Amino acid sequence: APGFKVAILGASGGIGQPLALLMKMNPLVSVLHLYDVVNTPGVTADISHMNTGAVVRGFLGQPQLENALTGMDLVIIPAGVPRKPGMTRDDLFNINAGIVRTLCEGIAKCCPNAIVNVISNPVNSTVPIAAEVFKKAGTYDPKRLLGVTTLDVVRANTFVAEVLGLDPRDVNVPVIGGHAGVTILPLLSQVNPPCSFTSEEISYLTTRIQNGGTEVVEAKAGAGSATLSMAYAASKFADACLRGLRGDAGIVECSFVASQVTELPFFASKVRLGRCGIEEILSLGPLNEFERAGLEKAKKELAESIQKGVAFINK
Ligand code: ADP
Repeated sequence: APGFKVAILGASGGIGQPLALLMKMNPLVSVLHLYDVVNTPGVTADISHMNTGAVVRGFLGQPQLENALTGMDLVIIPAGVPRKPGMTRDDLFNINAGIVRTLCEGIAKCCPNAIVNVISNPVNSTVPIAAEVFKKAGTYDPKRLLGVTTLDVVRANTFVAEVLGLDPRDVNVPVIGGHAGVTILPLLSQVNPPCSFTSEEISYLTTRIQNGGTEVVEAKAGAGSATLSMAYAASKFADACLRGLRGDAGIVECSFVASQVTELPFFASKVRLGRCGIEEILSLGPLNEFERAGLEKAKKELAESIQKGVAFINK
């Protein structure tokens, strides 16, 4: 059986810990490296007692980053600071941008061929930041850099299934654009299984999917943002990347990637995953009038967030 080496950067955090748990349970993972600037010895000791196949190793602090990254096939980045009530994803920008830059410099040096899954927010900016860091290092391959937007799809599937009275496992909603507010564009006209919604349902579902993160931030009331559902979504996405690497056919997930489906340099849409990462970016398919209007709004904000990320590195 193939085994892949996976590193989680920010493994002690709210997302990192449950993500480490889920990756330790993944039979495709043979080696799991847990890196953070705090608490990795404890998290690693704890996770390492699980009787699953993956060998777990912990790495603490910047001097151990290179050892954490060497030889990795997939690097997942949830490192950063959590969103607090009243804080937008963009408020996190300066802190997380610097963290992502440092981590990507390490990836360029130690595992330039790894697939990189970026979770740290704002994803609409941190993915362009990662791309700029890799370009500067001469290691950039757009096929291997993916922003994780799976939580938007997971939420869309859940909320749509609730409205339709279906099992959420049987529902698939494409979500395109980006990973913040109005840039999150669920394509309710392309739901599988085919179905139709009233305009009230479309408005309710679109708003709820776009504000899913805020719903959790408010419910947690100061204790952080979505971590458990995010870890679930990231684990699902990482598993899809690993199945692609293994050579499985027909692995399609939405992700925020370098793209030519719009005039923007990055865009989230369905991508087919394979042995080299992204094998194909699927076309958006037919959008209805409501979705076309949403797309214009999304593109306006996305363009700014992408530019902000690029400027952070090239300032
Ligand atoms: P979230 O809810 O998004 O997971 P947390 O603050 O709980 O947010 O977790 C983020 C994790 O990222 C923390 O464990 C923190 O120590 C870690 N982190 C912060 N800076 C760095 C860094 N430079 N490298 C690696 N991990 C980092």
